[in-house]
Amino acid sequence: MLNVDEIRKDFPILSREVNGKPLVYFDNAATAQTPKQVIDTIVDYYSNYNANIHRGVHTLSQEATDLYEQARYKIQAHFNAKFSHEIIYTSGTTHGINLVANGFSSLLKKGDDIIVSALEHHSNIVPWQMLCERTGANLKVIPMNAEGELVMAEYSNLLSKNTKLVFVNHISNALGTINPIEDIIAQAHNVGAAVLIDGAQSTPHVKPDVQKLDVDFYVASAHKMCGPTGVGMLYGKEEWLKKLPPYQGGGEMIAEVTFEKTTYADLPHKFEAGTPNIAGGIAFGAAIDYMNGIGFNNIADFENELLEYATNKLLDIEGLKIYGTSKHKTAVISFNLEGIHPYDVGTILDKLGIAVRTGHHCAQPIMDYYKIPGTVRASFAFYNTKAEIDTLVAGVKKAKIMLS
Ligand code: PMP
Repeated sequence: MLNVDEIRKDFPILSREVNGKPLVYFDNAATAQTPKQVIDTIVDYYSNYNANIHRGVHTLSQEATDLYEQARYKIQAHFNAKFSHEIIYTSGTTHGINLVANGFSSLLKKGDDIIVSALEHHSNIVPWQMLCERTGANLKVIPMNAEGELVMAEYSNLLSKNTKLVFVNHISNALGTINPIEDIIAQAHNVGAAVLIDGAQSTPHVKPDVQKLDVDFYVASAHKMCGPTGVGMLYGKEEWLKKLPPYQGGGEMIAEVTFEKTTYADLPHKFEAGTPNIAGGIAFGAAIDYMNGIGFNNIADFENELLEYATNKLLDIEGLKIYGTSKHKTAVISFNLEGIHPYDVGTILDKLGIAVRTGHHCAQPIMDYYKIPGTVRASFAFYNTKAEIDTLVAGVKKAKIMLS
């Protein structure tokens, strides 16, 4: 069991007011809030250890390097990667996807197929379209149904010996649908294709086991899991990371440089050119510790309770429609009030201190499917309460009266 009153004390921001009202933060799918345990590691780093890593013989540099590498071990353990060098620090999910997409430029040829899903964030669409432009590969799309689920029979039909890569999100940011990634991975492997899973939205709610999943690449952002912005991770199977060329050239990623020829460093440094977000990496480790301290089973149970409570209360409002009604979903509710633009609802909620996201959520193809400009999205975290949901429901009712 999770003690939400105690947990809320860890998050300084949750006690602030917005527009004279207590903040109700329901934009967790965009970025999660940061507990003081994580903030403290950043302050501690800049107060006591700030130095460049991996290259200094002096004490500060060694201490900073140790902390940064210890955080990599924490990430490795959390995702159950076989080796720590299979964890590449990135600036976030977007960076991880671009790194892999860039690497596949030299592995694809005209006529190869790569497969995406209809439920993706633009970050998991655009880099692959750019890859197709570079290589002449074809981008195929697994369609979705009205519940916001992938049509798995169509996926099976798309797969062939030409399929080289499949990339889908574990959980949809716009609808909250949990995709059947075990099945997606197994079917892709049957035709010899590699799989990248976008874990930006899953990692705040579940603890993925990359070895059990047998996934080839898994990417995530620290800021969705109570860590800082500008840091994330790419897990790649060793064999794949060895096969892919470096993404960026620079310091840190080389073995030897001459003007005739440069040789590259071993994993993970081959993919980590330049001075990284050192404090961010250390704080990412602290965020993982924090979330594991609460426990992912406790988090899932609590958030599911919030989801059910909010879904029932919101559906009591006449003219409110929820998009994404799969039984397999996480604590995200995307909705609209009939005849009212989502932006207007969001603006009124903000006046009441309630932070929700409005718009297409960087997932325009999903909005096109439903033929809507966007939705209001309330996304919950383990530090939210039923009382806050009551505030949201009252706010939506108020917005409906004001805007009708
Ligand atoms: N994929 C999904 C499913 C997301 O929700 C997000 C963040 N909204 C991203 C990718 C991109 O993450 P970042 O901006 O941290 O790189």
